[in-house]
Amino acid sequence: MARIPIDLVKGNIKKEEPISNLIVGIDLGTTNSLVAYIKDNQPVAIKDEQGKHTLVPSVIHFDENHDATVGTNAKAYLVKDPQNTIFSVKRLMGKAFKDLGEYQDFFSYKIIDTEVEETLVKIRIGNKFYTPIELSAKILSQLKERAENALNQPVQKAVITVPAYFNDAQRQATRDAGKLAGLDVLRIVNEPTAASLAYGIGQDKEMVKTVAVYDLGGGTFDISILNIDHGIFEVLATNGDTFLGGDDLDKAILEHWKTVYNIDAAQLKENQSLNQALRIAAETAKKALSSSNDFQTQVEAWTLELDRSTFEQLIHPLVQKTLAACAAALKDADLDKSAIDEVIMVGGSTRVPYVKEQVRTFFEKESINDDLNPDEVVALGAAVQADILAGNQKDILLLDITPLSLGIETMGGLMDVIIPRNTKVPIKAGRQYTTSVDGQKNLKVSVYQGERDLVADNRLLGSFVLRGIPPMPAGLPKIEIHFLLNADGILKVRAKELRSGVEQTVEVRSPYGISEEDMARMLLDSLKNAKTDMQSRALIEARTEADHLLLATSKFLQQNDAIMSDEEKTQVSKLAEALKEASQGEDKDLINTCMDELNDYARPIAHRSMDNTISNAMQGKKV
Ligand code: ADP
Ligand code: MG
Repeated sequence: MARIPIDLVKGNIKKEEPISNLIVGIDLGTTNSLVAYIKDNQPVAIKDEQGKHTLVPSVIHFDENHDATVGTNAKAYLVKDPQNTIFSVKRLMGKAFKDLGEYQDFFSYKIIDTEVEETLVKIRIGNKFYTPIELSAKILSQLKERAENALNQPVQKAVITVPAYFNDAQRQATRDAGKLAGLDVLRIVNEPTAASLAYGIGQDKEMVKTVAVYDLGGGTFDISILNIDHGIFEVLATNGDTFLGGDDLDKAILEHWKTVYNIDAAQLKENQSLNQALRIAAETAKKALSSSNDFQTQVEAWTLELDRSTFEQLIHPLVQKTLAACAAALKDADLDKSAIDEVIMVGGSTRVPYVKEQVRTFFEKESINDDLNPDEVVALGAAVQADILAGNQKDILLLDITPLSLGIETMGGLMDVIIPRNTKVPIKAGRQYTTSVDGQKNLKVSVYQGERDLVADNRLLGSFVLRGIPPMPAGLPKIEIHFLLNADGILKVRAKELRSGVEQTVEVRSPYGISEEDMARMLLDSLKNAKTDMQSRALIEARTEADHLLLATSKFLQQNDAIMSDEEKTQVSKLAEALKEASQGEDKDLINTCMDELNDYARPIAHRSMDNTISNAMQGKKV
């Protein structure tokens, strides 16, 4: 059901203009997920239909017909129907059964051990099997639907966040989940990067900062140390505890109450609804104590009480554990606390004043970044990143890596990669080349982008000619081709002949002006064609080598005319002719054989020629 906006002044239905090029930001969390977008230049989290909550609990319940309920309504089933209620599916993304180790018991639903070790885990609900990707897709679909209802327009494009420590498999799984939910995932962004962006850190192109992002969520703790340099985010270190979060604070309260009020453990085990009521009361107490000093509630016959200072004592060891992880991360990054410019608080559990205070004290800061809702900040930042990708923030270009390789064309139309894909920018790289023809004065430099071996299959970014190379024999000039790719995505290419100092520089603008689909296609092509590429590369290399040898042979015949017999001359010419013919064909092995034959035949003559030169030289010398 979509809400209909009514203009009260004019009494008609206000038609909101659909947002063109809408890209939403999604925080796909372990405990809670949410979706945000940019409204009037500000990121806002999208609320439910009642306009109340932004968070969607990452919980999925399946009824007997395998119909799924996602979010708050599914949460109630965690106790009522644990076997058919999925929580913490994020922990299973990109994981094989063997990765779960001792934590298998953590899940109340059934995780299937597949025969093949490498296969990713599946979850069994009744007689059906679900992958973590499918389950995450259910959450994402819910968020997509929520955004579509609220904005009254289709939502197709999204940026999704993941923890900084997620590996390729986990990132890919997240991407796939998005695809399955009908989303075009334009980028996977690190959660700490998104949080920084939400605070406007890193949006300024000139900014150089080191940032600590402290993220205490429902079940996990992450500390990330980032270096932000001219719009480039580099993760210097991550640390944390995948089983430490708000749930543990709740548990600490529950244990405390059990002792104080003599609540029998055995009784609790039998009485699931009492157990659940106490768990909810503990979480309510925790949340209440974030803004007041005392808490009291009634559960069955018990009046449960908790004050803030007791709560702080209870959670002290847990908070200390997070600080130890912060210290470890600093050590890994080889940084002192004083090197941290900003501390950013993320995750619902950082609402606890004691947590904030302890973190602030640990980092020895006057103030920390805690103005934004900590459980929304990642989604807000994802929306900022989405807006940048949508091209709405013209002067910012956030780049962390080059998506495709950059290189130049070498002899025979081959791609010679100078900056490989996935290299962090800014980056400088260079390589030396030489000429292939005697007395060559000009050298054409053609710059390409792509993963294929032949430049013809890649994308030409630009080309220029280095002129005025002084005449030298082929192979003698030293031409350095130097690439500088800066944070704005502008590639500067310099060609310099080192012996003479002749130099030329060109700017190749934005090699990123390529759609995600094109990029995906180019990468896919390179994989599909890897084998044929390799074959044609070998053929072209053989032909190039043959050309060189033929050139050298004609020089050889001229220079050694005096010392060669007629028969030798005829034979060399014959072999050269055979090679020439072979090099016009498609058989690289034949070309190589012809080259070997020519080389083998000419070798003794070359030796003789060399001896001759030496003895001539010796003769001229008076000993
Ligand atoms: P995740 O990133 O793991 O999906 P969140 O960032 O949404 O999780 O954090 C959820 C946790 O935050 C829960 O444990 C919840 O109890 C806790 N939380 C939410 N609000 C408060 C509050 N006001 N005070 C203390 N803890 C809170
Ligand atoms: Mg989170």
